[in-house]
Amino acid sequence: MPRYFIETYGCQMNVRDSETLAGQLEELGFEAAESAEAADVVVLNTCSVREKPHHKVYSRLGELARLKELRPGLVIAVCGCIAQLVGDRIAERSAHVDVVLGPRNIGRFARAVEEARAGRGPVIVRDTEEHVAEVLPARRCPGVSAFVNLTYGCDNFCAYCVVPYTRGREVSRRPEDVLGEVEQAVAEGYREVVLLGQNVNGYGRDLGEGVDFPDLLARVNDVEGLWRIRFTTSHPKDCSDTLLRAMAGLEKVCEHLHLALQAGDDEVLRRMGRRYTCAQYRAIVERGRELMPDLAVTTDLMVGFPGETAEQFENTLRAVREIRFDGAFMFKYNDRPGTRAAAMGDKVPEAEKQRRLELLVELQNGIAREVNEAQVGREFEVLVEGQDQKHPANLRGRTRQHKVMVFPGEAEETGRLVTVRAEAGYLWGFTGRRSEGPTEGSSKPAA
Ligand code: SAM
Ligand code: SF4
Repeated sequence: MPRYFIETYGCQMNVRDSETLAGQLEELGFEAAESAEAADVVVLNTCSVREKPHHKVYSRLGELARLKELRPGLVIAVCGCIAQLVGDRIAERSAHVDVVLGPRNIGRFARAVEEARAGRGPVIVRDTEEHVAEVLPARRCPGVSAFVNLTYGCDNFCAYCVVPYTRGREVSRRPEDVLGEVEQAVAEGYREVVLLGQNVNGYGRDLGEGVDFPDLLARVNDVEGLWRIRFTTSHPKDCSDTLLRAMAGLEKVCEHLHLALQAGDDEVLRRMGRRYTCAQYRAIVERGRELMPDLAVTTDLMVGFPGETAEQFENTLRAVREIRFDGAFMFKYNDRPGTRAAAMGDKVPEAEKQRRLELLVELQNGIAREVNEAQVGREFEVLVEGQDQKHPANLRGRTRQHKVMVFPGEAEETGRLVTVRAEAGYLWGFTGRRSEGPTEGSSKPAA
């Protein structure tokens, strides 16, 4: 049997796309290989949101060129956002690349690979207007949690962000397609779904069917056999009170809101094109915490946006100190080709961006640790993901707040819901011990 190997860079959407790439290869008769060296088709499913993963892909392509010299029959495919953004340059400069395929064109992957294997490469497919095909086969990652796309693309065009250019305009999947995929995942044994979109709150606007994101959550909540629902990412400008009330009222929706703040300064937010103020953001968090006292709030933060002054950065530190996030992804701004911010003057020097990032990380990590330490002694419902890699006598799972919990237990408990009392809190989550409580289904009381 021919074999494939997929390397995935970037976000959950890419992880989900890789499952569809794998599914198509398996339908062609391929099986998974342990490494690129053992594969007949190697796929790099790439990310271009920041510079670092972008550079990593280029160096990986160099290594694969050497592999292909030894094995000329090897097919190398570059998929994902870099394929969309600079796919023509990759095909021109890297003669060893056989397939270049943008994220919207994922349904054409199997045919592209077949053509390349028949020697008709390089095959280049980069159409951001294409409607992403439904009902594509998928080889889902093993585990308790399944990713399900809600929307593709993004219409927000934040000044720094390349996503609208790589993934195209925002398109919602039809509710019956989303529900069908959730039911299928549950039938395959998954107990949690993570609904994916760049701005899930915008779901349904383009469908004209009168179904919005809170409506869809209610329908997913009714899927029998499903225990937990998560979603990412919400955009603060569209995070409505109806959504917060739906989260509080639907028993399967977990008490975790990932809501990117980006910056705590209104002028920076305005130039980023985010369309909310820091006060509006804080009002959403306050309301969420009022409705769900157990709510965990995580965020994305960016330092060194063009023109960000020391004072404006201080405002971000102040917001972080006051909001007290459970966790944050923190980045240094970097120019992405074709974005409005890339053309802005007054760039913050690299050393200063690094200094600001270190200050921010130190502050936020301290807060996350304190937040978790303050919850020692509490009982949490934990969905067991499996044995802990470092200490196999321990199990690893997630609380409803998406915090990691490590505790002694047997591998057979994987996939179950158990109650664990936190005994110590860390930056990354908790260690704990089993206590009495539910072992299946959801423990959140229906509102
Ligand atoms: N759609 C999500 C939202 O608006 O909340 C964000 C998705 S984006 C792929 C993930 C994060 O990458 C952003 O929230 C932002 O913090 C970061 N990011 C995007 N463009 C960036 C850039 N040019 N430089 C640094 N970080 C960037
Ligand atoms: Fe990028 Fe903004 Fe869209 Fe998020 S909402 S993907 S940051 S353009």
